[in-house]
Amino acid sequence: MPISPRSFPQPSQTSGLTRRAWLAGAGATVVSLVWSDRAQAYTVQISPDNPQQGDTLAVIIRPEQPQASAAPVVTVNNRQYPAFPLPDGRFQALIPTTPLDTPGRLVIQVNGSEPTRNLAVGLRQRRFPTQRITLSPQQRDLGTQHEFDRVAAFKQRVTPERLWRGSMVRPNGGQVRSPYGVRRYYNGVFAQDYYHRGVDYAASTGSPVRSPAAGHIALVGRVAEGFELHGNTIGIDHGQGVLSIMIHLSRIDVQEGQRVEAGQVIGAVGSTGASTGPHLHWGLYVHGLSVDPEPWRQRGFD
Ligand SMILES: [Zn+2]
Repeated sequence: MPISPRSFPQPSQTSGLTRRAWLAGAGATVVSLVWSDRAQAYTVQISPDNPQQGDTLAVIIRPEQPQASAAPVVTVNNRQYPAFPLPDGRFQALIPTTPLDTPGRLVIQVNGSEPTRNLAVGLRQRRFPTQRITLSPQQRDLGTQHEFDRVAAFKQRVTPERLWRGSMVRPNGGQVRSPYGVRRYYNGVFAQDYYHRGVDYAASTGSPVRSPAAGHIALVGRVAEGFELHGNTIGIDHGQGVLSIMIHLSRIDVQEGQRVEAGQVIGAVGSTGASTGPHLHWGLYVHGLSVDPEPWRQRGFD
């Protein structure tokens, strides 16, 4: 159940007033709109109410006037996130958090046709395991520009239709070998920007890889085309900025543009690319950032 976070009103209503007047244009109705606006404000819930690094925040917005309301925009740390309509007239924006986010107070601003709402939620620090890795110079240089460009373009995708439903499916039956968020020391130096951007399942080569939720195949990359770091790769667009990437595959059973369902076999586990043994790496991305897939598997999101 989402719980209302601490909420504080705008220090002044003038920004909402100005915005509304601007939205209404230079018409004679502006004054009456301004006065009726004062009673109309979004009701906002943030879930979970006590998040930790790696969690996805659902910002659920109920307009006072659902019929008249265009989709609001949510701003967190100077970055804007789109909200999409839920079936009941509310809107939802999904906000990614990662191990690289500074713990503490997150200010969440909701902007749209009703007066701006500012809310705050505390992001809890989480302890992630660490690994020590020794790399040779050759291993550091793995990866081609073609591969980086295609993966980066995939992570930018935000398509309007929500295709996931309920909790996500485990993509492989193997045990978790390396969880989300592991931090690393490379050759003894802590890697400030590194965290394990996914979950690794230990499984033998050929073991099936399933789509965690419905989606469209938006990326297929093969070692032969230059995917030397990721290996054979499948990217799935679940809609509304939620994406899965499966890497190091031995086999790919799908094509770009194909629709897949939750649990559908899309390929097989392998050890292609920069991999030390057969395993599946599943990365779950929300608006371009890798989030912890566990909450998506345990309770899911609307
Ligand atoms: Zn991995």
